[in-house]
Amino acid sequence: MNDLTPSPPGAGCRNTPILKERGQHEVFCGLTGIIWLHRKMQDAFFLVVGSRTCAHLLQSAAGVMIFAEPRFGTAILEETDLAGLADAQAELEREVDRLLERRSDIRQLFLVGSCPSEVIKLDLARAAERLTLKHAPRVRVLNYSGSGIETTFTEGEDACLASMVPVLPETDKRQLLLVGALPDVVEDQALDLLGKMGIEDISVLPARNVDQDVRVGPNTVFALTQPFLGGTLAALERRGARHLPAPFPFGEEGTTAWLLAVAREFGVDKARFDAVTGAPRARARRAVAQAATALKDKSVFFFPDSQLEIPLARFLTRECGMQAVEVGAPFIHKAVVGPDLELLEHGPTIAEGQNVELQLDRCRAAQPDLTVCGLGLANPLEAEGLATKWAIELVFTPVHFYEQAGDLAGLFSRPMHRRRALRLMEAAE
Ligand code: SF4
Repeated sequence: MNDLTPSPPGAGCRNTPILKERGQHEVFCGLTGIIWLHRKMQDAFFLVVGSRTCAHLLQSAAGVMIFAEPRFGTAILEETDLAGLADAQAELEREVDRLLERRSDIRQLFLVGSCPSEVIKLDLARAAERLTLKHAPRVRVLNYSGSGIETTFTEGEDACLASMVPVLPETDKRQLLLVGALPDVVEDQALDLLGKMGIEDISVLPARNVDQDVRVGPNTVFALTQPFLGGTLAALERRGARHLPAPFPFGEEGTTAWLLAVAREFGVDKARFDAVTGAPRARARRAVAQAATALKDKSVFFFPDSQLEIPLARFLTRECGMQAVEVGAPFIHKAVVGPDLELLEHGPTIAEGQNVELQLDRCRAAQPDLTVCGLGLANPLEAEGLATKWAIELVFTPVHFYEQAGDLAGLFSRPMHRRRALRLMEAAE
């Protein structure tokens, strides 16, 4: 199946020296992941053990639900808890007992740590163990950290999935595990393509509900669908599973390369691969070409935020004709994004971590046509005349695999159209 393998540029970025920065960084914390995780896992409840700030963040990110009982909440640590004057463990357990008594629909409960719970060193692992003993088998209680101390917002999903891996039942079966929380409709498209190739034993982590039989073992091969799952990768490897490195399924080329890696592993022949992917590949190419006309030959600058930066830079430069000036990512795990780095043509600065002031200086000097950054930077940069794209939108919007490839290009071309319209209006005044 060599003819479909994306041809790497003369020199890719795998061995490009990385500019490592430490300093003030502008990102959301890992609690943000609850917004998409609670939609994905339909019998899970996420109980943040945190402050009123944490509760406000969740409420404003998710919108206040009036008619439905939400499947996330915050157990607020009061000043007496923070000062060590109250037994926060006992209070938390009482709170969980009350919640589970009231909500019979909850089958998995995640205790989610925050900055305040970490600062007072509240042992949520011990609480989760005790609560599991108390509420098993009806409810499984796990814990992870969503704290914003030295992290970025997509690490919340990584920590959540990694917390599930040790409790997955063991299997010796040869199987494929897809890892990453995708919108159901996108996940179904991927499963449909893989099923048509004849790959039968496929599980997904996270499953939509706890009754879906997700197992792991030495004959499990797993493919990540999100590039921010380094902790989950390590946890799966500790269980004996093997990672399938591949470019991420963004755009036609990325999706084809990702599917090819899986197809090769499972011995799918070229004729079958072509038959299954031919039509959606052509649709994706057409959709990208249409949406990308505004992007051709334009420059793009990535601030580190979502950890999607490297695969997206690969998509925008190779499929949409953009030129990357700087590709900043909060963390660069070459075991995860190495295949995308290989395909990204040598040229842009590859930066890991952030010193926001220095990076803003570089961005202003470059005056890119499009800047991909967090919400906190977008408005000031817009005010300075730069077109921006909010990185967080890329995690909330269906962007993976063939049928979303055109929408993905469209997400980047819209800010350019908006900026052009603004300029025209300003010129007309
Ligand atoms: S976890 Fe930390 S960064 Fe996130 S909302 Fe709570 S206090 Fe703020």
